[in-house]
Amino acid sequence: MSTTLPGAPHLARRGASLQLDGVDLAALARDFGTPLYVYSQAAMLDALAAYERALVGRRHLVCYAMKANSSLAVLQTFARAGCGFDIVSGGELARVLAAGGDPSRVVFSGVGKTPAEMRQALTCSPTGVRCFNVESTAELDTLNAVALSLDRRAPVSLRVNPDVDAGTHPYISTGLKDNKFGVAHAQALAAYRHAASLPGLQVVGIDCHIGSQITQVAPFLDALDRLLDLVEQVEAAGIPIHHVDVGGGLGITYSDEAPPQADVLVSALLQRLDERGHGHRELLFEPGRSLVGNAGVLLTEVLVLKPGAEDGSGGKNFCIVDAAMNDMLRPAMYEAWMQIEPCVLRDAPAPVWDVVGPVCESGDWLGRERALAVQPGDVLALLSAGAYGMSMASNYNTRPRAAEVMLVKGQPYLVRQREDITSLLASDRLLG
Ligand SMILES: *Cc1c(COP(=O)(O)O)cnc(C)c1O
Repeated sequence: MSTTLPGAPHLARRGASLQLDGVDLAALARDFGTPLYVYSQAAMLDALAAYERALVGRRHLVCYAMKANSSLAVLQTFARAGCGFDIVSGGELARVLAAGGDPSRVVFSGVGKTPAEMRQALTCSPTGVRCFNVESTAELDTLNAVALSLDRRAPVSLRVNPDVDAGTHPYISTGLKDNKFGVAHAQALAAYRHAASLPGLQVVGIDCHIGSQITQVAPFLDALDRLLDLVEQVEAAGIPIHHVDVGGGLGITYSDEAPPQADVLVSALLQRLDERGHGHRELLFEPGRSLVGNAGVLLTEVLVLKPGAEDGSGGKNFCIVDAAMNDMLRPAMYEAWMQIEPCVLRDAPAPVWDVVGPVCESGDWLGRERALAVQPGDVLALLSAGAYGMSMASNYNTRPRAAEVMLVKGQPYLVRQREDITSLLASDRLLG
């Protein structure tokens, strides 16, 4: 067993028991059932504070990329802390509003915004959202038409694809020119000229988002440099750029990754901004995973142990648990490695298991080849499950989605009740 747990210091082992914010996780599983997501509000606020700490005295806005975890209590936590939001759909905008978030602190990202979503974002308040992060010239034209039909001017930023060198930074997945996101760096100036010529648009900024789970500072600095090169060209063409949005993508610790702390990353970016004479600009961030990932765990109960052939003729040992790929898609979708810890340690031999769910897919696994001393009825915790967990959950195999609990000053609050079969069937209609 590792001595420091990803999610520490909020997650810790006291004796045999795994605790989040001092609360016994096995007890929460007993009280609320499994599968169960549990979040530490303090861990989320600490993660936000690391960004804010480095930004004191600077014009800035941290916009939580809510697709990482869009539960209302999470949004409410960040809204109350003064955070903005990065949204990618009209549904996410509705969630921000339901959680008490301020639309003037919302940036709207995404490659395929519909005219209806554009209308919603322009009219959700007297001023509408803070900015549309536009990803193509065609989108500029559509947004212009929608804004004019409402007698508004839509504030826009262009998402530029900085095409940061893949050879240097192979882990970058969205900032290369061969993917669907953003406007190519070489076309960006022409796109800005086009945007500035459209009467329904108001150019306000520039943005990029180069990928996710990035564990080094260098690619962020490279991307910032590429953005600032463009800012200089665009402003020389007479189009003022007010804010620079460097996107999200800072990684977290799942196993032995050691990403920079948010304040280290931010300080490095500010230093580069200052060196290049852009220190007066408002800086926007869109962190998702790094605000919530290490703040959550997914609790699951062991249903069945299915050892391989005992005569040594082969076959794996399977530990079948009550959480599955529909609850946590990351291993199945990205082959992601997530740490699995028993909520109560057993003093017993630890055979090697594949930890899998009950869904009828071979890809339905949560962890492979894990040494665990477990018995049916034990509760396991998948660590670093606060990001891209519940927000990617589905009802595949007609499985009700998990409940969610948030710990606030050591008190558990049920912030999403477990779905039941009735609600799952509610939208279906039998033929007449
Ligand atoms: C997903 C996304 C983010 C957040 O990414 P993380 O890796 O979770 O920080 C930010 N901005 C945009 C445009 C995104 O698509």
